[in-house]
Amino acid sequence: MPQEPNSDCNCGVPQLCAADRNCPIDWDSELHEFQLGDFEGRQSWVIRYCFNCGKPLSGSKRADLFFEMNAIEVDDVQRRFKSIQSVEALVHQLGEPDVCTSTGGEDVDWPHDLSNEERAYLTYLRYWTTVDVMVPVEKGNLAGFICSPRRK
Ligand SMILES: [Zn+2]
Repeated sequence: MPQEPNSDCNCGVPQLCAADRNCPIDWDSELHEFQLGDFEGRQSWVIRYCFNCGKPLSGSKRADLFFEMNAIEVDDVQRRFKSIQSVEALVHQLGEPDVCTSTGGEDVDWPHDLSNEERAYLTYLRYWTTVDVMVPVEKGNLAGFICSPRRK
């Protein structure tokens, strides 16, 4: 029996890929999403349409768990971070981070010596209500910033 054009994927290929350890597709059971990962667990991207049959992979619980990022707040983040080039400039402009996470993933007190950290994160929460900003720091140097939706 043919499926409706807008019906969800029912081909089973994403589930097979998610079960295969050698495939970069993962199933996030909390968010109810298939995700494409980078094998190192550092980044992932949500897959909204099946890569095999092209139909929607709906049912995500993301909207239940996270705020939708407010465009004004996202603009504010981009404006604040546009000219920041160093940890010193970051702390001068935004103050101490709300959370400092070491390379191993544990939260540490601020101030913290970041020069030997392979990849630490400084997180700023207090300026916005719908976004969290994580600033990766690699061996003391800023490595961009990550603006993500705040968990409800
Ligand atoms: Zn499919």
